[in-house]
Amino acid sequence: MPLHIAFDNSYAALPERFYARQPATPVATPALIAFNHALAGDLGIDSSDLSEAEAAVLFSGNVTPDGADPLAQAYAGHQFGGWSPQLGDGRALLLGEVIAPDGSRHDIQLKGSGRTPFSRSGDGRAWLGPVLREYLMSEAMHALGVPTTRALAAVRTGQKVQRETALPGAVLTRTAASHIRVGTFQFFAARGDQDGLQTLTDYTIARHYPRASGPADLLEQVMQRQVDLVAKWMGLGFIHGVMNTDNVAIAGETIDYGPCAMMDSYHPDTVFSAIDQQGRYAYANQPRLAHWNIAQFATSLVPLMPDQSAAIDQFTAIINRFPDLYAAAYQATFSAKLGLSDSDPDLIEDLLALMARDGADFTNTFAALPHANARDQFIDRAAFDAWKTRWQSHNPDHGQMARTNPQIVPRLHRIEAAIQAAITDDDAPFHAMLAAVTQPFTANATYARPPDADEKVTRTFCGT
Ligand code: AMP
Ligand code: MG
Repeated sequence: MPLHIAFDNSYAALPERFYARQPATPVATPALIAFNHALAGDLGIDSSDLSEAEAAVLFSGNVTPDGADPLAQAYAGHQFGGWSPQLGDGRALLLGEVIAPDGSRHDIQLKGSGRTPFSRSGDGRAWLGPVLREYLMSEAMHALGVPTTRALAAVRTGQKVQRETALPGAVLTRTAASHIRVGTFQFFAARGDQDGLQTLTDYTIARHYPRASGPADLLEQVMQRQVDLVAKWMGLGFIHGVMNTDNVAIAGETIDYGPCAMMDSYHPDTVFSAIDQQGRYAYANQPRLAHWNIAQFATSLVPLMPDQSAAIDQFTAIINRFPDLYAAAYQATFSAKLGLSDSDPDLIEDLLALMARDGADFTNTFAALPHANARDQFIDRAAFDAWKTRWQSHNPDHGQMARTNPQIVPRLHRIEAAIQAAITDDDAPFHAMLAAVTQPFTANATYARPPDADEKVTRTFCGT
């Protein structure tokens, strides 16, 4: 194998109850869909001699690369508010970790690689749709400047997976700062596994928050990263869709591109996920749910503290700061979108209210604001013109706006079209879309166009 990955596996050195060692289950006829050479380069992996056939066998799990130590990680979590004591990687395997030339450590994980001890009734597989969706979304988010897991490779398995119908199977290779989640802490806390919780905390601090002096400090720093992350999502009209505690990465990256979507027409109540009947994870609820998730993280850290009732008071005081921290991050995000040096909450809220009332396209409205055609987004153009006059009196910085407001985002109807084509073995729309959405600040009329009525996709499904 010409591909050499210098694995340096620290999670595999943690106690056995943190995971289940498990090889990938081979697939019938692996065929490469995409390999991210730029990401490989950033990770210090020289992929220049990697053939498509070799990439396919490695990143389907058919050949375990030298130095990998595949394992399924244990975790728990609150899903839609309900407690699940045992989740874990049911269709994913951590191959191992690499240390990039810049010194940063990254997980390399296969997703869709077969059953594990955590699979329960699941088949451990993924179909092509969620694999391509995650590839497009995560690479677009990275290009948009949002902390996120990345996509290193996508491979067809040559096997069908049975969902509502039989669909082509695929494996995604994703990289992450780590896959430690709020749910990983909850796993040990809920079992009363004090030693495991302490080991996980020490490991997490060393790996991600080396300046944190202990659990309270860790809580504050994790909270700040969630605040910053969710403010970025809001500024892009991104709806995660499944903000369960097992999908909250402690390192502060966006993880789990299941039923997520970018909003086309702006409305704060927008929700796509078919299973989110109550709109728990609707666009405007995301900050509140991030706060709730951080409260669960705080709860899981309490057993580490010698005086638990004092710890509860201390942690409560910390998490009560979430709304103010979030408000500051939100104002900074939307002030930048409007090119304002000083935040003006009324100006932001008044624009969003007009956008919601008229169903203005979220991305295109902000991209067009400096231009005359912005008013085309509105039905009540007089109201918009009045708002724009107010806004212009602030002398907005158009250069800052151009760096902040993308021209294009990975729109849901385009992702669905790319997936439908790929089902018929036409990967051209996927590759064209990937090239476009990884250059999000470049004007691109094709990908800027919102869906027509007959193209609109209103429902998304969890990525299984
Ligand atoms: P998610 O909704 O992606 O956050 O996954 C929730 C839990 O379900 C995790 O423990 C997954 O590993 C597990 N899971 C999801 N899909 C499958 C599948 N096809 N086979 C086995 N486990 C799965
Ligand atoms: Mg998940």
